[in-house]
Amino acid sequence: MIRASQVTLGPPVVIGRWIHHIDEFLTDHLILTDAMALSIIHYPHPTLRHRSKPIVRVDQRLKDLAQEMLDLMYENEGVGLAANQVDLPIRMFVANETGRRGEGQEWVVINPVIDRPKGSEASQEGCLSVPGIYAQVKRPKTIRLQGYDLQGNEINMELSGFLSRVMQHEVDHLDGVMFFDRMSEEARRDLEDQLYEFQTTFDSMRRTGNIPNDDTIAKQIAQWERIYT
Ligand SMILES: [Zn+2]
Repeated sequence: MIRASQVTLGPPVVIGRWIHHIDEFLTDHLILTDAMALSIIHYPHPTLRHRSKPIVRVDQRLKDLAQEMLDLMYENEGVGLAANQVDLPIRMFVANETGRRGEGQEWVVINPVIDRPKGSEASQEGCLSVPGIYAQVKRPKTIRLQGYDLQGNEINMELSGFLSRVMQHEVDHLDGVMFFDRMSEEARRDLEDQLYEFQTTFDSMRRTGNIPNDDTIAKQIAQWERIYT
């Protein structure tokens, strides 16, 4: 909870872990609260379909969020996690192809751009936003990844193999694309029952108020975008 005594005038107001404009504070209920812990959202949460905008501001809070994303990725035995999978509509993802803390290379990539696709390869993929579902996805074998790390250093490298697949999967998330969108119609039909189960769970969580309605989610997205994009 935020106390009135903590609010000072002049936008943007920076209080603890969140930033808010005073006019919105007065006219709108607070949505981005200070003690909000990130959690992984599941299909069909609308933020997974949101096309994230580039980040224009890197502050300590963003760095903390990236660290929290890495923690969640390792806890859930993932190899990559995109910001909109934790309900943040910004172009950032984390990855480590080993899936283990302290091993391999840990990545935090801001504003990633993929180009120069070469070759094609089908391989099995899974996703922390649809846990338990695995399927073959065909993707370019080699790509070029460009972007920035949290210190503002440029990333520009050619990637192939598993890491290339991981990065492509994560950049897809930032564009609102799920891995099953890239499957053949036939392969997708095989997953229909499982995806329906996710829909059913989502609907019941909405009914019990554990997931906000579309209007509230849209407002949260707009607030994050105002801060970081
Ligand atoms: Zn995924």
